[in-house]
Amino acid sequence: MNIELQGKLDSYIEANRERFLEELFTFLRQPSISTRNEGMHECAELLASLMRDVGIETRVMETPRHPIVYGEIDKGPDAPVVLVYGHYDVQPPEPLELWTSPPFAPEIRDRKIYGRGTSDNKAQIFIYVKTIEALRAATGDVPLSFKFLFEGEEEIGSPSLAPFVEANRDLLKADLTYYSDSHIHESGRPMIILGLKGMVYAELTARGARIDQHSMRATGVPNPAWRLVWALNSLKGPDNRVAIEGFYDDVRPLTNMERETIAKIPVDEQGLLDFFGIDKFLPGRIEDGYYFNLISEPTCNIAGIVSGYTGEGSKTVLPSVAKAKIDIRLVPDQRPEDILEKLKQHLEEKGFGDIEVEGFNFLTPSRTPIDHPALPVIVEALEEAYGREPIVYPGIGGAGPNYVFTDILRQACFVVPHATHDQANHAPDESMDLDGFFNGIRTGVRVFPRLAKTLRR
Ligand SMILES: [Zn+2]
Repeated sequence: MNIELQGKLDSYIEANRERFLEELFTFLRQPSISTRNEGMHECAELLASLMRDVGIETRVMETPRHPIVYGEIDKGPDAPVVLVYGHYDVQPPEPLELWTSPPFAPEIRDRKIYGRGTSDNKAQIFIYVKTIEALRAATGDVPLSFKFLFEGEEEIGSPSLAPFVEANRDLLKADLTYYSDSHIHESGRPMIILGLKGMVYAELTARGARIDQHSMRATGVPNPAWRLVWALNSLKGPDNRVAIEGFYDDVRPLTNMERETIAKIPVDEQGLLDFFGIDKFLPGRIEDGYYFNLISEPTCNIAGIVSGYTGEGSKTVLPSVAKAKIDIRLVPDQRPEDILEKLKQHLEEKGFGDIEVEGFNFLTPSRTPIDHPALPVIVEALEEAYGREPIVYPGIGGAGPNYVFTDILRQACFVVPHATHDQANHAPDESMDLDGFFNGIRTGVRVFPRLAKTLRR
């Protein structure tokens, strides 16, 4: 983009700073607590009207729970299309007494906006509403077609998102998905995230006698706690390899470019060890390296075990039931349904067919190809807006629903966060960095004109 136009865009953003913030504050003042259905419709309507104000054709679409706010700017069949995703729902603000200022009365202190939903995710979606306004005001038009998908159920696990996307494939079809959530690197360098892990959560239950027994009967009455421990022991060894038959069969190997990119992620391994208070990290299958393993290794984690007596002193009891919860984080191309089936089969084969397995929280892993032509363009736009070189993450350890874009819609998905690492999302005093908000808009007005050129068909 030429320098003159860039200057025009930046000065428009600068000149309208206060009004952008006022409008954002109106959005932040509207509670939208999805888990208890507080203010959801009001917030959806408010967001829709803020979008209409900048010329986005917007409708509020119902789902079985909370509405989806869908918007469009259509530049005709030849224009590339970007789908912008985000969520307008927020976490409950409690405990209220730990907030310095009330959660739904946003306030600026030390260059941060404090309030529930500031960084997660209201300011980070409002960035795109204001990006559209700035592009239109300074250039007379937007450079490509836009679709906006803002859901109201992210904080409760996005139950309607996948069915909605399945049912509206044509409506949502785009060249790529682009969104801002999560936070930039703690050094202040911006980030681009290309993939999320998948997830299978399972509850294992071993049962023994009808009711708890006196432990003198341990000579003859089987103990489900032992059975559960033996079963868990069969899932993973001290070598850190998951022993479920076929568990790694579908793991997609990292490409050379992905490996090189991971090697560039700044890491202070000793600092991390100190932070965790441990001596060494677990080994990986292929090589060792904190980010290499965080991104490329699937996990089988015991999240909790409970059985019998764990209170103070002694109680000689032979429990009648033992339960464990395990979370299995998946990498491409493992599938949650398949891994759960393999877990059940493994237990059966090892002689633990009596242990009940209930699986839930299925999430398919996602990863956008690192050689996608949009990536260098996003890197360039971020570098210009922040004045810092972005860090590219081929994946992260966290799980999420990006597969709806990469697998159901079959389009690349780029996550470009603008909050800072101390955003305290889900906690009291959640904040959004003022610079992050405006850098987000400054990135937006730089990235879309570039994408329009790169994606031109
Ligand atoms: Zn959240």
